[in-house]
Amino acid sequence: MAEPKPVVLIVIDGLTPSVFETADTPTLRFLLEQGTYARAASTFPSVTPVCLASIATGGHPDVHHIPHLIWWYRDEQRIVEYGSSFGALRAAGFARSLRDTIVDLNARHLNRDAETVYEALEDDGLTAGAINITCYRGRHRHIATIPGVPAVNGPKRFFFYSLYESDRTGAPIAVRNRALGSIDSYAAWVGRWLVTRDGFDFLVYYLPDYDFASHAYGPEGTQEALRRSDASVAALMDAAGGADAFLDRYAVILCSDHGQSNVQRIARLDAGDDLVTASNRAAMVYTDTPRAVAEALDGDPAAGIVLFQEDGRMVVRRDGDEDVALLDAVPDGHARAAAALQNPNAGTVLVSASPGWEFVDLAGRNHLGGGSHGSLEQGDSEVPMLTIGLGPPPASITGVKHVIVDHFREKASLTA
Ligand SMILES: [Zn+2]
Repeated sequence: MAEPKPVVLIVIDGLTPSVFETADTPTLRFLLEQGTYARAASTFPSVTPVCLASIATGGHPDVHHIPHLIWWYRDEQRIVEYGSSFGALRAAGFARSLRDTIVDLNARHLNRDAETVYEALEDDGLTAGAINITCYRGRHRHIATIPGVPAVNGPKRFFFYSLYESDRTGAPIAVRNRALGSIDSYAAWVGRWLVTRDGFDFLVYYLPDYDFASHAYGPEGTQEALRRSDASVAALMDAAGGADAFLDRYAVILCSDHGQSNVQRIARLDAGDDLVTASNRAAMVYTDTPRAVAEALDGDPAAGIVLFQEDGRMVVRRDGDEDVALLDAVPDGHARAAAALQNPNAGTVLVSASPGWEFVDLAGRNHLGGGSHGSLEQGDSEVPMLTIGLGPPPASITGVKHVIVDHFREKASLTA
């Protein structure tokens, strides 16, 4: 019985299924032709910190407890903001927000009882690696490259925007010119280094720059960014000696974390005196009177599906209609809505934006004329999901961890 192949998980942030399916860039096209492909569902809110936590832990927010890009931290009675925009980071306190995003998301906010894919594999004696993914919690302590920044626990091979580097690769600094894809270039450098040395059983190769372009130009205006994502994936393959040699050596799973949709209108969600945490196309209200807040949103054109709990059951409203069957119209609606509500860090009313609408963030920033995501609607919620050498692709991003862990455990039990 052959040893199970090492696995590379490629996450292209914000890549929509339709763009992936019609990609004419050579590397992504090659992978699509070699693999088993289907569209899969994201989680809710469909924003990156929540989605990456779902990919890493194999659960929705009821499992991992990361509720949104911005949320009210009841234990500490304060706002947590993971970077909706530069202005929002500054409005929430720049140093505090950077620490929340880089360190405390993993060290404090991520549920200790939720096992990450890195923890699962390394507890099985395998070597896990992560490049730039914001949900990285593992068993190995890593000291920051900048004095004064706290140490964190990541997988054995761990590279995070030049700030944590488990190995000296000679990669240039990550955050020099975001618009020209410098973060993905950093990932490519590190990825090449790791593949050349065969330095892992499992590697997450996370490419965030595509989402940045899609926010600016909308989900159909991203051809240039797609070419750069393609080149970043090609760099990994070249390090293995080319595309065929790469697939001889590795099993692959490629997906995005969420989709994107076009923003035509913006609004500031108003819930009277109750605290609103809004960003992109999702908002949460922290209120003791959820029904009154939800009913007051009936006439708000920006509010699409509105969720709250009452007497232990989920209530779903849209424009005055109240019916859980409203969730039949969106991908994996019932599971995603219920899990979002059952997160102890979530607001008591959750608002999925109407198609075309975006909620401005803490600093009033928005993506009017560009793209956004976060809602339960299809455009934000569907992702491409491709597997090569791993069986059928999972129907949800919450299935990614299980596919990877099972790949190693099934092979191990067959050889035992
Ligand atoms: Zn985004």
